Amino acid sequence: MPAMEPPRLGEPVLLTPGPLTTSFEVKQAMLRDWGSWDGDFRAMTAELRSRLLDMIGPGREAFDCVPMQGSGSFAVEAMLGSLVPPGAKVLVLSNGAYGERAARTLDYLGRAHVVLDKGDYLPPRGPEVARILAADPAITHVVAIHCETSSGILNPIAEIAAATAQAGRKLLIDSMSAFGALPLQAEDVPFEAFVSSANKCIEGVPGFGFVIARTEALRAAKGNSHSLCLDLHDQWTHMEKTGQWRFTPPTHAVAAFLTALRDHAAEGGVAARGARYARNRDTLVAAMRAAGFETLLCDAWASPIIVTFFCPADPRFDFDTFYEAMKAQGFIIYPGKLTVADSFRIGCIGHLDHHVMTRVAEAAAAALAEMGVTSAAPPAAALTERDKLAA
Ligand SMILES: *Cc1c(COP(=O)(O)O)cnc(C)c1O
Repeated sequence: MPAMEPPRLGEPVLLTPGPLTTSFEVKQAMLRDWGSWDGDFRAMTAELRSRLLDMIGPGREAFDCVPMQGSGSFAVEAMLGSLVPPGAKVLVLSNGAYGERAARTLDYLGRAHVVLDKGDYLPPRGPEVARILAADPAITHVVAIHCETSSGILNPIAEIAAATAQAGRKLLIDSMSAFGALPLQAEDVPFEAFVSSANKCIEGVPGFGFVIARTEALRAAKGNSHSLCLDLHDQWTHMEKTGQWRFTPPTHAVAAFLTALRDHAAEGGVAARGARYARNRDTLVAAMRAAGFETLLCDAWASPIIVTFFCPADPRFDFDTFYEAMKAQGFIIYPGKLTVADSFRIGCIGHLDHHVMTRVAEAAAAALAEMGVTSAAPPAAALTERDKLAA
């Protein structure tokens, strides 16, 4: 495969897990205005919904896709507020910031919940989910994060789904940063609904999220929502009836997303997208380790979406200086989102390939040299802690 083109407009490469670097064609799709009521735009909305449903494979007939304006968290809140009825009880499987955000959302919604908190290093496992569900018959729903983007951990979603289905409970998945690059087939992963958004692995621009839910669950959701704007049932019935979004749709973001969806299919779908990201990660991790950096996670749970690296212990290392030095070389990185140790993150997703990742590691080494940092090794205590907790 020839190297993918770097951004044509002279902007830096975004190594951030959304917004991310998009192709020139995706950006170009936004150079035209669309009437939200017009038949052409309604056809675009219909194509978007149907292409997304195709991605869950056999059994898609039992599901429908409801796009929702706003960032991904708006769609998560719409899913939780609409599909978890008042009176239900939720088990939240948390191992990072997005699991915490799901629990916090349920707080706002006034939905009863318990949290299984696994810290930053470990995934929730099927058997422990089964034990909790067996011990608490009041739990009706399980919320799981597919890829916890705050650390980059890939949670074993099929195992969690099997344990949930076995116990006769309903699974709601935040697959924001996984869907489109990691398999999520209705056949293999029994779920009630999941949510993702335009600006992650499909490589569109921000502006909306979407929920893919059992049609039966959407039908039953009438009257559940606390919010008019985030009422999934209302959005769904309106879209079914009129082909339109209830309120102003992000027309340009939808046009860009359709281009991104067609490019996703042309690349070879989920398998090819996932393989490109995995190669990005492998190239990045190997080159960064060669430069002395250490990853937060052991390889077994590392997703191909984003990698967390510990900050070097050397007192001459300063994250803001490092960030600016990376930016000066054309790369925007992400600060860490952990409580335990100083870290930074490098995303592997977006319109970029492994050639870029080699240059990213070179840029990181150059940035350290500029600061006079001679070793990228993290504090010994951070490694001890990691190896103890991940054991
Ligand atoms: C990006 C992301 C979200 C949504 O974040 P927004 O900033 O609201 O778009 C939710 N969950 C996960 C796991 C994510 O990666």
